[in-house]
Amino acid sequence: MLDADLVVIGAGLAGCSLIARLRQLNWTGRIAIVEAGRGPGGRTATRRRRKRPEWRLDHGAPGFHMVDPLPEGLKALLAPLRENGSLQQANRDVITLAEDGSISGPGGPALVDWLEGQPSMASLCEALLAMDEGHSTQHFGRRIRTLQRIRTHWCLCEEGSDWQLRGTRMVLSGSLLAHPRSLAMLGWQVVPLREAVPEGQDPDLDQVLETLARSRAEVRWNLMLDLPLNGEKLPRQIWLTPEAQAQWRVERLVLQPQADNRTGLVVHGLDSGVPITPESQPVLLRQEEKRLRQQLPELLNPWPELQSACEQAESLGVMRWGASQPLDHPLARSLQWCDASAVGFCGDYIDGPGFGRAEGALRSAVDLAELLVTLTP
Ligand SMILES: Cc1cc2nc3c(=O)[nH]c(=O)nc-3n(C[C@H](O)[C@H](O)[C@H](O)COP(=O)(O)OP(=O)(O)OC[C@H]3O[C@@H](n4cnc5c(N)ncnc54)[C@H](O)[C@@H]3O)c2cc1C
Repeated sequence: MLDADLVVIGAGLAGCSLIARLRQLNWTGRIAIVEAGRGPGGRTATRRRRKRPEWRLDHGAPGFHMVDPLPEGLKALLAPLRENGSLQQANRDVITLAEDGSISGPGGPALVDWLEGQPSMASLCEALLAMDEGHSTQHFGRRIRTLQRIRTHWCLCEEGSDWQLRGTRMVLSGSLLAHPRSLAMLGWQVVPLREAVPEGQDPDLDQVLETLARSRAEVRWNLMLDLPLNGEKLPRQIWLTPEAQAQWRVERLVLQPQADNRTGLVVHGLDSGVPITPESQPVLLRQEEKRLRQQLPELLNPWPELQSACEQAESLGVMRWGASQPLDHPLARSLQWCDASAVGFCGDYIDGPGFGRAEGALRSAVDLAELLVTLTP
């Protein structure tokens, strides 16, 4: 007896949207979703704090925009989220900061129709999973490390335990299990999907793995601070111009007022290109925290109130995001489903409008759901 007809790896926007859209299309198969993180969200996750339960800090994508025309399937997917208020139009300012310290606003790519999850970004994935009405099984805090293709089904094994899951079809929403970056970053010996289906068995899958191996992903170092300041009147985002980004190695500052009258600040730090390995990561995290904190007084010159709040800020640490915004070599939409190996792909690494952004994750999930419902059970 298999655990599921479809196993989805990853509960980010793409994985959760795939499940929600499949259910909207009346797909009745058994679905299991497995996620390494403690809850849904992926790169739209929200940081919670044990000692301050009212805190919600969007430490990955703080929102997103989409470019019309949107496919009907995507509009249908988002309609219930707009209706229940978990997806809303943002209404706070976006300011641009130049390398000479001058500000102008609003600016940045966030100008057009900026959308946010409410009350936080993780609410989007939570609301998408809720559309499944409890029909799928959800496995959080489990990182899949080994994949095996056994005759007509997939067997997925967790890292560091003997927990496993079996399913007829499998979808990877994150690209980690199919991308060689896992070798250096996590110290894995093989690319799990390549090991599961040896070269030559499925030409489509060979093409997928070749494309993904060529794609690079940007790394981010996001510093999170708790500021003793009510940020309601401050801009929501401060985007640096390209010249300012090069000067400070910071993309933007995101301010999120909290229910306890304090404000969360996320400094989106850009990468220096130093290779990340299990050994170098702890050192890099400390270096990035120090660097970003040291730069803040200069960056915040135009906002003296914010500047002085930062001096008394409590650090909530640095989050290293991998695979944020894949830079090149998108995966062709025609390769989203490899029938011979019964494996599919969705996420922001799929080609199309919104590639590398939240919109791409949503669109690719809708496309894959519409394809999966046409397959024989
Ligand atoms: C700091 C930052 C800022 C961003 N800003 C913006 C923005 O302003 N606008 C915008 O449009 N986009 C932005 N993005 C990009 C946006 O967040 C992503 O495009 C989108 O969230 C991708 O969703 P996804 O489902 O494709 O991938 P993910 O959210 O990465 O989901 C993949 C999931 O798979 C899980 N997973 C992977 N491998 C395994 C495994 N082996 N076992 C179990 N689980 C696994 C991961 O834990 C993850 O939760 C930003 C991203 C970051 C990091």
